[in-house]
Amino acid sequence: MLSVTYTAALFGIDAFLVTVECNARKSIPQFDIVGLPGISVKESRERVMNCAASCGIPIPDMEITVNLAPADRRKEGSDLDLGIMVALCRSSGLIPEDVDLGCKCFIGELSFTGDVRAVRGVLSMALEARDRGIAEIYVPYGNIKEAAAAVTRDTRVFGVKNVPELIACLRGEGKVYEVTDLPRIDPADGFRFAEDFSQVKGQTRARRAVEIAAAGAHNVLLIGPPGSGKSMIAKRIPTILPAMTYDEAIETTKLHSVAGLIPENGDIVTRRPFRSPHHSCSVVSLVGGSAIPMPGEISLAHNGVLFLDEFPEFSKSTSEALRQPLEDSKVTVTRAAGRVTFPSSFMLVCAMNPCKCGYFGSKRGTCTCKPADIKTYLSKISGPLLDRIDIQMEMPEVDFSEISDKADSEPSAAIRERVEAAREISRERFRAAGYKRYSVMNNAMMNTDDLKRFCVLDDDCIKIMEGAFKRMNLSARAYDRILRVARTIADVERARRPDDGSGVIGGKITKKDVMEAVQMRALDKYW
Ligand SMILES: [Zn+2]
Repeated sequence: MLSVTYTAALFGIDAFLVTVECNARKSIPQFDIVGLPGISVKESRERVMNCAASCGIPIPDMEITVNLAPADRRKEGSDLDLGIMVALCRSSGLIPEDVDLGCKCFIGELSFTGDVRAVRGVLSMALEARDRGIAEIYVPYGNIKEAAAAVTRDTRVFGVKNVPELIACLRGEGKVYEVTDLPRIDPADGFRFAEDFSQVKGQTRARRAVEIAAAGAHNVLLIGPPGSGKSMIAKRIPTILPAMTYDEAIETTKLHSVAGLIPENGDIVTRRPFRSPHHSCSVVSLVGGSAIPMPGEISLAHNGVLFLDEFPEFSKSTSEALRQPLEDSKVTVTRAAGRVTFPSSFMLVCAMNPCKCGYFGSKRGTCTCKPADIKTYLSKISGPLLDRIDIQMEMPEVDFSEISDKADSEPSAAIRERVEAAREISRERFRAAGYKRYSVMNNAMMNTDDLKRFCVLDDDCIKIMEGAFKRMNLSARAYDRILRVARTIADVERARRPDDGSGVIGGKITKKDVMEAVQMRALDKYW
């Protein structure tokens, strides 16, 4: 007797529907799984047999073969257990013939005792099942909050706690929990962070630099001695970025779920992620990969912040691996199983000491480095990577008077309002210029043509630029970066300035904007 139902398997961030065919025929009793199963799927056999035994599910004394289709795609993941179990129950006559299994998809790992365990990647799998026209999706109860995103008028989603409960439900003798509420994104929830800029004392210039960076989505490098608060500031950058949209939240959740980072009963990700891999991390853990392709840190930081502390300590190969993703906002990893692309659109925030001992220019410690050592230290940063960082800001140590100041600093919410207003101005400018992708554009993405169009300097501004170039010996590349940052500064300042009558959306770039942007290129003098 042949029975057919569906389950799903992951490939990268995407999932594909798997047809489970189970055939039982009179022969020597045995149980086999075919159809390119991976190691975890081969083990499925043991879990299904043991689970059936402990739940009192009779396995017919026949030759049972389970075929997973499509046969040419390798299937990995323990989540196929539940689909195999259901197909087996149909073959053993436990699920009546009139119950349509062809419109159902079963996702979940089995325990020996019959419980259905939460698995990774449920969001991707549930959405795929929905898009392929599956009417009823059964997922582990521990994954219902993710799977809720797949609920529509035509698609029902159920949370299963254990196998006996599911069998009873399919026999029409009981019920399993039905998910009825779509995940809602409460805009306020995106801002419920423990960290806030009101906790950061002093560091006015660094705070300003990250505000500008957030407003234009510029990458930023903070340079300062130990204890100057570099990580403290970096950690708070997600709190001043605009709230995530529904689509951003779904995409970020998919990545975190595939990586197994969503805890049991965990909600979808609504806050912008902050990832800070250690400088000893491998290229694979940073950009993704391994035998079963998994997202790396750059993809877990998707729609959020990737923070690289002690920037010069990262190996050349690591920083090389970052270049392409920074350019393309995605990363492609090639493995035996095929090519997988993970999205990786993140704001890069780096931090470093001014020299190897950390005390160059410090009031609190004495620098023991020789001038040549300082040069060697700085030259460890990869030039091409530094090229993608628009803002480089020096952070002096905080004075005692600033630390002892009892008054709270400006809170993140106030800064975020300016960031959002500036982003809206830049979008408006791209929209008016007829850009198709204006809604996702930001100032950091402007190319040379855009700069000519949107960052026109008057004679006074040009004079300041010339002076800075002579004084600091800047490269042509630095010129473009200063223009981009000056444009963002003008956008942030727009609300505080009277209309300059120029007709330029966001107003003309002023001398002040250019001077401030030049000051945000602290490292150029070393190159
Ligand atoms: Zn030193």
